[in-house]
Parts: sequence; structure tokens; C-alpha cells
Amino acid sequence: MEKADIGLIGLAVMGENLVMNMESKGFTVAVYNRSIEKVENFVNGRGKGKNIIGCTSVEELAAALKRPRKIMLMIRAGEAVDHMIGQLLTVLEEGDVIIDGGNSYFKDTIRRSGALAEKGIHYIGTGVSGGEEGALKGPCLMPGGDAKAWETVKPVFMAISAKVDGNIPCCEWIGGDGAGHFVKMVHNGIEYGDMQLICEAYQLMRDGLGMTPDEMYEVFADWNETELKSYLIEITRDILKFRDQEGKPVVDQILDTAGQKGTGKWTSEIALEEGVPLTLISEAVSARCVAARREERIEASSAYAKKIEKLTGDRGIFIEDIKKALYAAKIISYAQGYSLMKEAAEHYGWKLDYGNIALIWRGGCIIRSAFLGKIKDAYDRNPDLANLILDPYFKKAIETSLKSWRKVVAAGAANGIPLPAMSAALFWFDSYTCEKLPANLLQAQRDYFGAHCYERIDCPRGETFHTNWTGHS
Ligand code: NAP
Repeated sequence: MEKADIGLIGLAVMGENLVMNMESKGFTVAVYNRSIEKVENFVNGRGKGKNIIGCTSVEELAAALKRPRKIMLMIRAGEAVDHMIGQLLTVLEEGDVIIDGGNSYFKDTIRRSGALAEKGIHYIGTGVSGGEEGALKGPCLMPGGDAKAWETVKPVFMAISAKVDGNIPCCEWIGGDGAGHFVKMVHNGIEYGDMQLICEAYQLMRDGLGMTPDEMYEVFADWNETELKSYLIEITRDILKFRDQEGKPVVDQILDTAGQKGTGKWTSEIALEEGVPLTLISEAVSARCVAARREERIEASSAYAKKIEKLTGDRGIFIEDIKKALYAAKIISYAQGYSLMKEAAEHYGWKLDYGNIALIWRGGCIIRSAFLGKIKDAYDRNPDLANLILDPYFKKAIETSLKSWRKVVAAGAANGIPLPAMSAALFWFDSYTCEKLPANLLQAQRDYFGAHCYERIDCPRGETFHTNWTGHS
């Protein structure tokens, strides 16, 4: 068989599906997996009769590839990646390319990128979004790293990625070293936020309005025909309709404890590190932590004998209010996520193209939505936009939704329905648009107990003052 165009290591769900996708686009792929029985199973199973070369060692893999070699890792993030890179270094040559497609922490990618550049090996860290179905049918790809290697990898990536608007690939070079994995991390954080907002809308309807899954199915079906149209609204609609063998809605049978793999937490941590308020995503991460503490919640709910009060008033009007609150809060979530990208880009020296990031997220990935087209338009109008909420389209959308958003958050607070993400978004909006915050008092407190000084409203910025608040010398 002729030599392979690309190699892939890691034949779990993502790796296998990416190989099938690459092969279907006319590339010959050489594959290797640590547990080598998986190579055998794959090549003689799903991969039978395809242009796939099974390899049982990294030496065989290196020998099976055209030069410069391109090897993609789809293995568990963390130490496994360093270990595998170590093994590959024994068989690769200068000019070869290693691509890490796992959910690696972007700081690890920066480190690996630098260390491999010194050895003449090009390193690409790429975000891959869309889950196993995306990997097979077309993922959203966010490659970053050594730009010199991009031209060799580009034909494969462009061919396998999802397409929007006919044939625009959901794949774009993101930037240097860890930029691709960073943007993928923010994408995952935004995914946490979008999911939490939908869950809050669901809880308002279920507990506040007493709606059945069938009734909520109709609402989500309607919403999916509006500006909220997105993959996550679509799957929520379908989940609400799904019945088990006894005819019961499956969603009602699922235990309310949430899992997470850590990319949302990383996003929140980096936001704190960069000093960027990312309140909605952070609340979404915390909401999963609260959900995971089910036994504690049950005890606390009985200790406080808490009962959620049913909402009164016109149901149809309130559902419309929830929709507007959801949309406005979603705008804030993306505004915060984009602010984080902006700050990190400055810190790490990446030139991120915010409009293009919105464009490639429009297809293949979990947060794909019509809404992202509006973000692309906003950055096309003004690539230096200070904050998304200052764009005319989003300003109008928030102004149109604001009354409903306040009504919904107030109803949640008054009736005991937790809305951590919707309310965090509203409180951020009210802070960000507040000309005079109470930080004058805060600075006074800091100066009182720690002599941290303050600036005065009647003096030039940067000139600092200290008051002897206690009169002690
Ligand atoms: P996974 O469960 O995260 O990882 C399993 C793969 O990693 C197997 O091939 C396993 O080999 C290999 N592996 C684990 N430790 C290893 C080590 N020390 N040395 C060499 N190989 C090792 O698989 P996945 O769900 O397909 O995900 C692959 C990567 O894509 C991960 O980084 C994941 O975070 C990322 N990702 C996943 C999704 C998703 O929806 N699942 C979406 C986007 C990105 P063995 O067979 O020998 O154990």
C-alpha cells in the first residue's frame, strides 16, 4: 500500500471517527493505539477495505507515513500526551508535525510547542468540537501552534471539517502556540453557560409554571424557529419528547446530578487570572457543583422546608419573558467570553480574529447557532469592538429584552427558583453599565485597614492619596 497522508494515535471514539472522516475524504491514514488489540479490531472491523494502515508500534507508524510526517494524537489529555510525544521523538525527524487534537490545557500546549520547536518538530494544538458525531461527519476545528506547519496540515483539516453556508469550512488557523486550545477551552466554557441558561428556562417552566415535558417540547420547538435557533435548543426539544419503553418522558427519570470534565473550570480560573469578569460561565460551573451535591441538597431542602411557589399571571406572556431573558443572558455570556479571549490574546501575544472564531463555531460544534452569525457581523462592522454589548445589533436586542429579563430574575428570586446564570448576567450588565459604582467606599475601606491609597475625583488619574482614618500616628 502507498504511504499514508497522515497518522493518528488513539483509537477511542473520537480518534476512530476522525480516521473514518479523513479516509472518506480521500486520505490514507495510518493508525496506532497504545493497546494494540484496538488497532487490529479497528482495521478488521470498521476500517476493513478502507485506505487505513494499522501499525503496532510508533516505529511502524513513522515508517508508514509520507514526509514530512503528520501525526495527530487523539488521546487522553495530560501526562499521556507528554508520554506519547516522548515516544514519537525517538522516531520523528526535523520538519515532522505532531498535532494534539485532545482537550489539552493551553498552557501545556504552549510548553510543548516551545520544547518541540527547539528540536525542529512542528507542533499544532487543535481544538476539536462536535463530539463523536462531529468527528465523523465534520467537526469544528480550532488549530493553533507552529504556523509553519499549517500549510501541510490544512488540506486534511479543511476537508474533514464541518461546512456552513454551502462550503465555508468550520476551521481556521487561530494563532500561535496555545491559541487553538485556548479558544477551544473558551468554547467549552460558553457551552457550559448555554446549557445552564437552557436548564434555568426549563426549571422556570417546569417548577414555576407547572408545565409538562410535552408542553415544554412545544416551547423549545417554537424557540428553535427564532433568534435562539441552535443545536442545544434543538436537542433540548428532542430530549423533552423522548419517552422510555413505559411511555414516560426519559428526562423525568434522570437523576439531577451533573458531571463535568474540567474545561469550564479552567475557563473560570483563567478569567480570574486575567482579571476578566466571567460571571455567567463561573456560575454555570458552580451550578454543576451544587447539582453534584445531591444528598446535601436534599438535607438542606428539608431543613428549610422549601417549596417553590407557582408563578401566577399569563403563562404565554411569561414564556415570552423567559425567552427574552434567555437571549439577553446568552448575549452577556458571549460578551464575557469574548472579553476573556481579547485579554488573553494581549497577554499571550496572539492575533485572534474574533469574527472568524464566531464563523467557525457556526457549524460542527456544540454551541453552533444562528446567533454566532450576529457576532461575526458585529466584528465585521467593528473589529476593535470593546465589548459585544456595544454593537448596535446586540444593544437593541438587550434593550428589547431588558424588562422581561428583570421580570424573570425577580420572579425566580421571589419564588425560590434558582437562576444563577440569568441573574449573574443581569447583575454583570447592571454593573458594567453603571456610571458610578460603590468602589469609592471600597477604596476607602482598603485605605483604612491597609493604607492602599485611593485616587480622587478632582485630581489627575494616577495621583494617589492616603487618609489617616483613625487619627493614630
Ligand atoms: P479518551 O477516553 O479521552 O482517551 C482514550 C484514548 O487515550 C485511548 O486511545 C487510550 O489508549 C489513550 N490513552 C490513554 N492514556 C494513554 C497513555 N498514557 N498513552 C497512550 N495512549 C493513552 O478518548 P476520546 O473520548 O476519544 O477523546 C480523545 C481526546 O479528545 C481527549 O483528549 C478528549 O478530551 C478529546 N475530546 C473528546 C470529545 C468527546 O466528545 N469525547 C470531544 C472533543 C475532544 P488505550 O486504548 O490504550 O487505553
